[in-house]
Amino acid sequence: MSTISVIGSGFSGLSASALLASKGNSVTVYEKNDTIGGRARTMLENGFLFDMGPSWYWMPDVFERYYNLFDHTASDFYELKKLDPGFRVIFGVGDHIDVPEDFDQLCSLFESIEKGSAVSLKKFIKQAEYKYKVGMSDMVYLPGHSIKEFMSFALLKDAINIQLFSSFKNHVRSYFKNPRLIALIEFPVLFLGAMPKDTPALYSLMNYAGLKQGTFYPMGGFGKVVDAFKKIAIDSGVMFKTSENIEQFDLQNGSISHIRSNGIRIETDAVIASADYHHIEKELLPKEYRTYDDRYWDKKTFAPSSLIYYLGVNKKVDKLIHHNLFFDENIEEHAEEIYKSKKWPTKPLFYVCCPSKTDPDVAPDGSENLFLLMPISIGLSDDEETRERYFNIMMDRLCKYVGEDIRPNIVYKKSYSVSNFVSDYNAYKGNAYGLANTLRQTAILKPKMKSKKVQNLFFAGQLTVPGPGVPPSIISGQIAATELMKHFKSKR
Ligand SMILES: Cc1cc2nc3c(=O)[nH]c(=O)nc-3n(C[C@H](O)[C@H](O)[C@H](O)COP(=O)(O)OP(=O)(O)OC[C@H]3O[C@@H](n4cnc5c(N)ncnc54)[C@H](O)[C@@H]3O)c2cc1C
Repeated sequence: MSTISVIGSGFSGLSASALLASKGNSVTVYEKNDTIGGRARTMLENGFLFDMGPSWYWMPDVFERYYNLFDHTASDFYELKKLDPGFRVIFGVGDHIDVPEDFDQLCSLFESIEKGSAVSLKKFIKQAEYKYKVGMSDMVYLPGHSIKEFMSFALLKDAINIQLFSSFKNHVRSYFKNPRLIALIEFPVLFLGAMPKDTPALYSLMNYAGLKQGTFYPMGGFGKVVDAFKKIAIDSGVMFKTSENIEQFDLQNGSISHIRSNGIRIETDAVIASADYHHIEKELLPKEYRTYDDRYWDKKTFAPSSLIYYLGVNKKVDKLIHHNLFFDENIEEHAEEIYKSKKWPTKPLFYVCCPSKTDPDVAPDGSENLFLLMPISIGLSDDEETRERYFNIMMDRLCKYVGEDIRPNIVYKKSYSVSNFVSDYNAYKGNAYGLANTLRQTAILKPKMKSKKVQNLFFAGQLTVPGPGVPPSIISGQIAATELMKHFKSKR
């Protein structure tokens, strides 16, 4: 039996740990915070249950595939509700598009906005479905060590067919002309990744997920999903140690022999590092054992950081639905300010989640649970005054849209931004979602899952393959666990 240390209890760490324990290894997860779940932690304040991170449950098949490995299904742990409408895109007061759950209705809606776009949408989604089926099947579970993995004819042909090498922006514009429809299609890559022009057309698979499969909500919130992963891990034999900030690795003959927490040395046969890659290499490894230097990380395109407000409101806000995207300003300008000029946005887009519309358990009776999120560049300074200024910008537009001033009804308010991501998660420059999936940072071009210099060190999480988001993080944990098991086999 091998002793494995998993650093970090986000979805990638949870997923890797249970798999490794189920194969008979002795696995301990070390988490610096006092609760499990990483960026998907929850916070209970004054009767409001806030999901601190993810709120969009897309790609339910990825969760299901994981549960099935342990003879489980999602409904063993929570009720999964399909939202209808899936989400709302707001262009101004009284001016919005509700994305219906039913695809035929969505096609009619497109047609009413741009003549001929129903046919275009069907073609676009058909191709996106093909990409999803190819990209999210065996290909997404490849570790991305080398191009050789894609060298089978079928896979290489697929890589070309699914447009791994062409731009998402051009792809979308070859189907649609109307700026609103383009904004609706482009928002997932923009919020989770990079400029559409720098993103491979492959990622229209996200549109298949969001527009055809639908937007789901686990009743009780994302915390229920974390609880499910934790239960599976515990049932598989994983031990959890919280409030354990791993500070250092001790090496012998090119392998980690011990990890250190609070000055105590803990013996280990191997490590899965599911915390941010940069932090692990820079803070825990001696220089000669690091694969990537500061210049490497500086050149990388990170997904955005965020300014978040968690709000408890002691009245109902009728004009909101569960997911509301405020796209009432110029999307390109905001994207430029996130990814290119890297400054606080002039006229930001933002997102408002109101899970109490679906789930009575996340707010006291007659109240609303609100989560405001504005994507921003990583590395910004985020003093209280700046946060408050943007709070007022978002609230002005939100209140105007809902037609009432809800500020006097706010009974709980907490902000969260760049510096919190750094202090809570050791996140590189306060990134929220890891490394963006750009043309130059996909598959084999991501940081490697197996350390090039330390034999028994494997990485997982949103800075590795396949990328940002809960489903990819789950997959990355599965890949890291498989690679580690292969490593043990090769040593026998
Ligand atoms: C605000 C926000 C909204 C999001 N919305 C969505 C969404 O709607 N849908 C979606 O699919 N995805 C969403 N995401 C992305 C998704 O939440 C993440 O991609 C995923 O949860 C990351 O999991 P992970 O395991 O890679 O990392 P993490 O969850 O960050 O886990 C890493 C863990 O390592 C711990 N750690 C760090 N350093 C150490 C150390 N030295 N010792 C011990 N422990 C350490 C950290 O505390 C953390 O718990 C969102 C993320 C954020 C932040």
